Amino acid sequence: MESKFVINNSSTEKGVLQTAELYNYIMDTSVYPREHEYLKELRAITSTHPRAVMGTAPDAGQFVALLLKTISAKKTIEIGVFTRYSLLLTALTIPDDGKITAIDMNRSSYEMGLPIIEKAGVKHKINFIESEALPVLDQLLKDPENKGTFDFAFVDADKDNYANYHERVLELLKPGGIAVYDNTLWAGTVAMDESLVPESKLDSRKASIEFNKYIAGDARVQISQVPLGDGITVCRRN
Ligand code: SAH
Ligand code: CA
Repeated sequence: MESKFVINNSSTEKGVLQTAELYNYIMDTSVYPREHEYLKELRAITSTHPRAVMGTAPDAGQFVALLLKTISAKKTIEIGVFTRYSLLLTALTIPDDGKITAIDMNRSSYEMGLPIIEKAGVKHKINFIESEALPVLDQLLKDPENKGTFDFAFVDADKDNYANYHERVLELLKPGGIAVYDNTLWAGTVAMDESLVPESKLDSRKASIEFNKYIAGDARVQISQVPLGDGITVCRRN
């Protein structure tokens, strides 16, 4: 058994996404041609932001939209909004009477995305809360109307708190609800030797490694860590 696994591993090392060309092929063939024009515009606006790389990757976004449609998500929560790429994506995907609770402690980057949200006619689906996320989640959970009522959660704020968010998100989700955690491969650093990792990435690398282990051991959810964008972990509440 053991040796069979070793053989499989060595062949998959040469496996699917071995080159930048292959990644670009996927983007050019399947992602960019299908990306909504407002999402493209939002990326263009965001590119002027000094931390533009924080925006959700379009390939991961495309998969998130597919998940939202698959489960017919209507009531969602987003933790970490930045200039709203994932928020706009969600708002464009859920039905007209769908509702998104969106939390971010930084309003200035959030405001950058406002013109596109208005143009897209989806503002009425969004309830933005400017705050640290944890107290808001605790507040939401005090209301029995919120417990077990959310179809979907997108978690993309401070990586140190992912496990704390997960505990609360699980209580907010319906059984069968989906949570997506973004950046769980943290620019590939989770699998790098620590000595090779840039100092600026060390803290979130450590948090990501801990979270990935934690969620892999969580029997309350079914998971899949999907290597799109910067890595997304998809969880389904049992
Ligand atoms: N989903 C966004 C990217 C989010 S980037 C997109 O698609 O563009 C991470 C965001 O999390 C930042 O906007 C930051 O302000 C926010 N954030 C970080 N820590 C937070 C906290 N403790 N509470 C609330 N928001 C937080
Ligand atoms: Ca992200």
